[in-house]
Amino acid sequence: MSGYKMFSSKTSGELLACLKLKTESTMFIAGGTDIIVGLNEGKYKPDTIIDISHLNEFRYIEKNGEVIRIGALTTLSELQYSDIILEYARALSVVSSIVGSPQIRNAGTIGGNASTAAYTSTVLMALDATVFILNSKGETRNEKINDLVIRPNTTTLKQDEVMVAFEFKVNSNIKSGFTKVGSRTGVTISKMNACLIIQEANGITTDVAISLGAVGLKPFRYGKAEKGLLGKKLDESFATSLQGYFQEAVDDSIRTRKSWSYKRVAMTGLALDVYDNYKSQ
Ligand SMILES: Cc1cc2nc3c(=O)[nH]c(=O)nc-3n(C[C@H](O)[C@H](O)[C@H](O)COP(=O)(O)OP(=O)(O)OC[C@H]3O[C@@H](n4cnc5c(N)ncnc54)[C@H](O)[C@@H]3O)c2cc1C
Repeated sequence: MSGYKMFSSKTSGELLACLKLKTESTMFIAGGTDIIVGLNEGKYKPDTIIDISHLNEFRYIEKNGEVIRIGALTTLSELQYSDIILEYARALSVVSSIVGSPQIRNAGTIGGNASTAAYTSTVLMALDATVFILNSKGETRNEKINDLVIRPNTTTLKQDEVMVAFEFKVNSNIKSGFTKVGSRTGVTISKMNACLIIQEANGITTDVAISLGAVGLKPFRYGKAEKGLLGKKLDESFATSLQGYFQEAVDDSIRTRKSWSYKRVAMTGLALDVYDNYKSQ
């Protein structure tokens, strides 16, 4: 690691003061599981680091009516075991449970994971989550997660901004699933992953949300499949259609890439797995 200034904030007042000092190359330490590795490997070269890991006021999971709000410092383990998340947004618990190891999940936060366009972003996109962002003047703005994440480690956050919370709507008729292909052996190796959220009535879909990760530069909602699978019976033919759409997604997104033929085949398994995971709720 080479020279950088380090500031620590334990309260939101201290955070605002730190945000005023933020430069274009400032990074945050939340759980530290991604940034520490990146600093050690020389991948990240910030001039300033702001430690936000002690900001416990941004560490919570709340449900008010149909809205779930999660503080950006909430750890993946907390999401994995939260009764609220298990009941209303199970895919977010599933994805949190398969990030890294228990040690990584105990430290790693949803804010850190989402800002690197990692696994939880796939689920947050399917949930159509909104991110709440605080600036150095104490003002808050919000943005859809889909717009915030540009590519891994690149967001639309301005120089004096930090993510403070995520919010999405739920209801008890929604079921969700998440899965990924293969194992992930390093911080930068991203594996294909998918989230499927379905609302149904009498075995027929009334709302479908699908997002795919590691098929393109960042996770994305696959609108073509969402539309095509609306009003469909949830039987074996649904799984077959899902497989077709997942293959189309690879064709549409990365046909010219070397990984195209492998990912096209792997996608058929991913489609079946995510449907099984959805059904197991
Ligand atoms: C061995 C190992 C295995 C891993 N396996 C997986 C895996 O399977 N799946 C996966 O998705 N990830 C994996 N990761 C990556 C990483 O652990 C997770 O993405 C984790 O959730 C990052 O969160 P963090 O709080 O530790 O982020 P940090 O390392 O603290 O920060 C990461 C980045 O996010 C930014 N950031 C953090 N919080 C905020 C905020 N509130 N506002 C704005 N920017 C913020 C920081 O500036 C930094 O750029 C792995 C890492 C390791 C070391």
